[in-house]
Amino acid sequence: MRLIDMNWMQLEAHLKGDDRCILPIGSIEQHAQLSLGVDAILSEKVSLDAAQPIGVPVFPVLSYGITPYFTAFPGTVTLRISTAIALAKDVFDSMKRMGFRRIVAVNGHGGNSPIGAYIQEWMADNPGVAIKFHNWWNAPKTWAKVKAIDPVASHASWMENFPWTRVANVAYPDTSKPMVDIPHLKSMDPARGRELLGDGNFGGRYIRDDSEMLALWDVAVAETRELVEGPWPK
Ligand SMILES: [Zn+2]
Repeated sequence: MRLIDMNWMQLEAHLKGDDRCILPIGSIEQHAQLSLGVDAILSEKVSLDAAQPIGVPVFPVLSYGITPYFTAFPGTVTLRISTAIALAKDVFDSMKRMGFRRIVAVNGHGGNSPIGAYIQEWMADNPGVAIKFHNWWNAPKTWAKVKAIDPVASHASWMENFPWTRVANVAYPDTSKPMVDIPHLKSMDPARGRELLGDGNFGGRYIRDDSEMLALWDVAVAETRELVEGPWPK
């Protein structure tokens, strides 16, 4: 359930019986023909779909993430690593204060890995609170399903093209883009990176059949739900 669909009294009552919650984390950045909000949309929706049958509250997505390399594309907003970590600290401190002890951070953006590293430090400072940092798209079962559908998959390719990440009136090239040389891309400043990337897809087909995408989504939702269910440290 969405946290913002509850009032504080309902949450106080809920916390007496369950101390789990989910924090989706995204990014606002170029995703080729797809929405600038892909990473925020997907991390929030996979969280909500995973939480729905087990009644775990889902906080509003942290929409902005760490994405300095896409800043030459309009629509990209990046947080400094120090800002993102300060934000994560304040959110986790608040969750602890209100009584949450088991938190799943569902991350939708690879550039946010410093938040995952910081979580280990935060837990050392806050014993008794467990946080799982879950990169939903490359968790083992979901990544295996991606590879089974089409091994060439990457940022802004078909693997992020769901009915809920498309924008209106856009056509997708009916081709498979050759994979970009990622280490080479990472050696570039944002303007050169934009030049190399063209539309922004890192490589692979742009769109696949919705039946394949819905099957992939089912795996991701189930895998995320399993993490929320447990096991958790006693
Ligand atoms: Zn993405």
